[in-house]
Amino acid sequence: MRIIREIEELKTAREALEGSVGFVPTMGALHQGHLSLIRKAKSENDHLIVSVFVNPTQFLPGEDLEAYPRREEADCRICEVAGVDILFMPEISSVYREDEVTLKAPAYLGYILEGNRRPGHFDGVVRVVMKLFGLTRPTSAYFGKKDAQQLRIIEKMVEDLFLPVRIVPVDTVREEDGLALSSRNVYLGEEERRRALSIARSLKRASRLVMAGELESETIKAQMHEIMKEIEVEYVEIVDRDFRPLQRVEIHNTIILVAARVGKTRLIDNLWL
Ligand code: AMP
Repeated sequence: MRIIREIEELKTAREALEGSVGFVPTMGALHQGHLSLIRKAKSENDHLIVSVFVNPTQFLPGEDLEAYPRREEADCRICEVAGVDILFMPEISSVYREDEVTLKAPAYLGYILEGNRRPGHFDGVVRVVMKLFGLTRPTSAYFGKKDAQQLRIIEKMVEDLFLPVRIVPVDTVREEDGLALSSRNVYLGEEERRRALSIARSLKRASRLVMAGELESETIKAQMHEIMKEIEVEYVEIVDRDFRPLQRVEIHNTIILVAARVGKTRLIDNLWL
């Protein structure tokens, strides 16, 4: 595995690759969720590039940019074992320049839900992903369904800008007790972690309700709120695949989204129906 930190070196290394290239962008502190993306990318491509970059432009002032977990050595070992060909770990100063051309997330999709709570967050996401696509020129790029809105925005970026890359969604990996894996889970104390489980439980309840024929969004949301009484829920929304609110669940076209704070930690999770 080659660890590359310089832009020019990555460009040269990419130039030398023939055949298909899978790409997995991450912010590091890799866990089994990331590994699931990496394994899928590995199995579907001739070459595999992973990036680890804690992208400052997607953090809002006052968010956890400084505190965000950094585990460079462990990330290198994990990627090595997983058969990654190139691990790209650039410095902030080589990725961003002064007064540069930028990209904006769509006005609706980029500013509702997560984008409403974190205005500008998805502008930072599309900016960095566009740069990383330009550098790695992937055949396919892999994104987790856990970040459902991010996934949809990246799909839309590819559609809107006619980019020659296939976006591959990957299912959410969970702990045995249901908690969706996230680099931010390390912030949770024991008691907070117990309370955080109510997020996954509420989604399970929603799934059972739908299977039992309950399709009314308000009824489902009310029961979910009831389960998450002990945490600070930011939103529970039931939307279609384009993130338009649904009054009734439409099978195969619905995502139920939750964002909540447990202590100081902000968590998101969702269920695709
Ligand atoms: P991050 O490092 O948090 O920016 O995540 C990098 C990629 O991994 C994104 O496409 C995420 O959606 C994905 N990811 C994060 N957590 C999970 C998980 N538990 N299961 C599957 N994919 C995940």
